[in-house]
Amino acid sequence: MLQRCRLAGAAAIGLIIFLVDAFTTLGSAVAVLYVLVIVLASELGDSAAIKRSSAICAGLTVAAFLYVHGFNAETQAWLRLLFSLAANGVTTLLLLRRGIDIARRRASEAALKASEHRYRTIFETLAVAIWEHDFREVKEELEGLRDRGVQDVRRYIADHPDFVINARRKVRITDVNQTALTLMGVPTKEEFFTHLDSFLPENDESFAQCLVAIDEGHPTFQAETKVRTRQGRLIPVIVALSFPPNGEGLDRIQGSIVDITERLEFQEALEHSRRELEHASRVAMIGEISASIAHEVNQPLSATISFIQAAQRWLDRKTPDLVEAKLALQDALSATEHSANVVKRVHMLLGKAKSETGEVAIEATILDALRLKQPELGTHGTRVIFNPAAEAMITRGDRILLQQSFLNIISNAMQAMDATPAGHRILTIETESRDSEVTFRFIDSGPGLGDQVGDSLFKAFTTTKPSGMGLGLAICRSIVTAHGGSISIRNRLDCNGAVVEISLPRCLLDTLDAPKDTPLSEAGQARQAQKA
Ligand code: ADP
Repeated sequence: MLQRCRLAGAAAIGLIIFLVDAFTTLGSAVAVLYVLVIVLASELGDSAAIKRSSAICAGLTVAAFLYVHGFNAETQAWLRLLFSLAANGVTTLLLLRRGIDIARRRASEAALKASEHRYRTIFETLAVAIWEHDFREVKEELEGLRDRGVQDVRRYIADHPDFVINARRKVRITDVNQTALTLMGVPTKEEFFTHLDSFLPENDESFAQCLVAIDEGHPTFQAETKVRTRQGRLIPVIVALSFPPNGEGLDRIQGSIVDITERLEFQEALEHSRRELEHASRVAMIGEISASIAHEVNQPLSATISFIQAAQRWLDRKTPDLVEAKLALQDALSATEHSANVVKRVHMLLGKAKSETGEVAIEATILDALRLKQPELGTHGTRVIFNPAAEAMITRGDRILLQQSFLNIISNAMQAMDATPAGHRILTIETESRDSEVTFRFIDSGPGLGDQVGDSLFKAFTTTKPSGMGLGLAICRSIVTAHGGSISIRNRLDCNGAVVEISLPRCLLDTLDAPKDTPLSEAGQARQAQKA
């Protein structure tokens, strides 16, 4: 309606100007007033209306001129005509220019609106909890620290928990989406927590890290923490924030929060299953060893019974033969001692095997085994050369069991080298670490394996020693296999001794989260001991 009125008004003004210009004797440039018509037309909308009205007004100006003056007009009249047409043209150009600017502004406003709408839609409907924070006051606090001459802000934050708590109170929550409301058990946006401090637990450490990230200008920040719901339940979450690059927009920092309760429960269940599996394989391993040992103990026990029965017979004679009886009892004693040795070994293995599974520093474990064997190594005149790899060698498993297998291998090497002339009894231990496994070799200078096949020596009760039980290597293999590794024994290439090689899965250092005084640091100590 308004448009129509404007159109009619423009037409009426145009007609009046034409009538005055053509049918009155006013000598001035009345046609200049056509600019009013063009301005009114421009209000109607697009540039086409401006151009059309401009063309009509120019036509009317020329028509009125010809009607009044014809082609033989005076110079002044021609000048007035030119002046009017110029005013018409300039106005048209200005209005067209303004129209373009307006159109551009409208387009960018529409784009902004559409993008805001898109953002709101994403914000409101995303299945991830999001809330917007105002971090401006926190930034000011951090800048205040610098103004006060604090150089190491990271350290200052670590040493001043009160500063962190105070800064937490300064973070206002300005908006929140539906998922966040559901997660935090709050019915409406209006009732949502007003400050970060209201739902972060006392012992939260993530906010201190967040302050460091802001201070150091990190573009993003991510951490695990817990948030307290309106009902007081603590939920484990991952929080992610991104900060504007130039420090602007700190009043609208979006944080996305993902509830990781299920993930942690799943991890715990997985860890539980892993522990059960380890326990099961350990029980299986112990069962296997026990069966072998029961068999081994059975033989000396039967012998003991026979020897005692023989002694009884010697004593039951009319004239008891004390010498024979004593010899039989002596044999019974030896057989019993042998059984006791087997039992002792099992006890050592199983009794200590109760230690927990964890990260094991190989070098430290080898050094411990060498320390235990030190007196015997001295008696046997064995020199040990230990060449550990440059980097830490960590595996996962039972330290005591692994140590037990190292002890067996060191004993074997030591005993084998008894046949080597004194001064040439050298046990070299090398460690080597590859991508996914650690390998270590015990290289001795004994007689080697002769024509025995390496693999057969791992069978229980295989021994070449008069007093050997043939269980050492079998137990080593059980232990190493239970740790997901492999073990082999072979002759040295120069045939001047044997090589026992063990490979175990490697734990990468950056995947470990062990505290400082765990076997990790023992590995460091081992390397340091070696360097010393
Ligand atoms: P035991 O030591 O009681 O004989 P093991 O299972 O430890 O039982 O060893 C089995 C056999 O393997 C030994 O009797 C020996 O013949 C051979 N053996 C093990 N280690 C070495 C070695 N370093 N050098 C030569 N022979 C070895």
